[in-house]
Amino acid sequence: MPAPQRMGASANSPLRALIDLAALRANFALFRRAAPRSKILAVVKANAYGHGVLPVVNALTAADGFAVARLEEAIELREAGVVHRIVLLEGVFSAAQLRVARAHRVDLVVHHSSQLDLLDAEPVGDEDLWIKIDTGMNRLGFAPEQVSEVHARLRALPRAPSNVRLMTHFARADDDAAMTVQQRQRFSIAQSLWAQAGGGSPEASLANSAGVLLWPDSHADWVRPGIGLYGASPCASRSAAEFGLAPVMTLQSAVIAVRSVAVGESVGYGATWRAERPSRIAIVAAGYADGVPRHLPSGASVLIDGRRAPLAGRVSMDMIAVDVTDSPHAGVGSPVVLWGHGLPVDEVAAAAGTLAYELLCGVGRRAVFEYLG
Ligand SMILES: *Cc1c(COP(=O)(O)O)cnc(C)c1O
Repeated sequence: MPAPQRMGASANSPLRALIDLAALRANFALFRRAAPRSKILAVVKANAYGHGVLPVVNALTAADGFAVARLEEAIELREAGVVHRIVLLEGVFSAAQLRVARAHRVDLVVHHSSQLDLLDAEPVGDEDLWIKIDTGMNRLGFAPEQVSEVHARLRALPRAPSNVRLMTHFARADDDAAMTVQQRQRFSIAQSLWAQAGGGSPEASLANSAGVLLWPDSHADWVRPGIGLYGASPCASRSAAEFGLAPVMTLQSAVIAVRSVAVGESVGYGATWRAERPSRIAIVAAGYADGVPRHLPSGASVLIDGRRAPLAGRVSMDMIAVDVTDSPHAGVGSPVVLWGHGLPVDEVAAAAGTLAYELLCGVGRRAVFEYLG
C-alpha cells in the first residue's frame, strides 16, 4: 500500500482528506487519561483506519506499541524504522510468515492450534506471544477450557516462550452490559486455568475503544483503542464529542457545477429525487469511488461553505448532487465537507446504514491526503 502523501497532481484534485494530527494526539491523550495505569497498543490496522499509517504512527510515538492485522502491515512499519512493539492481531498463517515475522521482531497473537503447530515446527524464536481467548465473539481464539492444553503445548516447545500474555476481544462493549460481563467472567476463568496450569499471572489485554471508555474495570495491563483515536465514537448511543473525541479526518471536495432545475424535473440515476420547487443543484466532485457511501439517501447532509445542505438523488461514482436552493452563496468552487470537522463521520455513516469504521477505511485513491499539525 503506497504511503499517502501530498502528490504533485494535487492541484488538479478537488478531493482532499485533511488529517489533523493534533486531534489524533489529543484523542490519544484522552485514552491515556481514561486508562492511566495501562499501556496502550494503538491499533493502526488497515492503513490506520484509512488515515495513512506512517504519519499516524509518527504522530503517536507516545504509544507503548502498535497493533496491526496483517504481516505486510507490520513489515511496512519496521521498514519505515518504527522501533515500537508491534503486535500482529491475526498472527501468522505459515512457516514462511513466521520466519518473516521473527526477522522483523513482531509480537504474535496465537489464536488457533495450527499456529502452535507452526511454532513447534520452527525451532528458534523468542518473540512475545499474545494468547487469544475466545470469550464469546466466536471469531478467533481458544476456549477458556483449552488454556491448560495451550499452556502445556507452549511449555513443550523446543524453546519455551519467555513472554506470554493473555488477551480477548469484546463483541458488544458498546451496547450490551450483560454480554460484556459474561465475556469478562469467561476471561477470568481462562486466567485462573492458566495459573493452575503453572503459567502464573501474565499481563492481560481486553479493551478496545468502547472497553476503555465504558468499562474501566476491563483496562488490565494493555488497552487496544482503535476507532476512538481517529475521533469517531465507539458507541452508537453517544457522540464522539460527548466522549471528548475530536475528528481526525475531514474529507473535503468542491462544487464543480451549479444548475437550475424546474419543478417536476429529476436529478441523477434512477430519477429518485424530484424538484418540488424551482431548485438550485450543486454538483460536487466526490462519489462512491471516493468513499462516499452509495447508500447515503437524499436528504443526508453535507457542508457547503460550512453550512448544511441536503443530498439530492443517488450518489454516483464521481459525483453527488446537493440541493443548494436555500444556500444562495454556494457556487462553483465552494468547499464541501463530506464528513469531519462540523459534520461527524458517525452521523454520515448512520445515514448510510453503516459505521464510521467503514467510511474511514474506504476513502478512495483519488483523494489527496494532507497532514496538518
Ligand atoms: C480492531 C481491533 C481493536 C480496536 O477496536 P476499536 O473498536 O477500533 O477500538 C482492538 N482489538 C482487536 C483485536 C481488534 O481487532
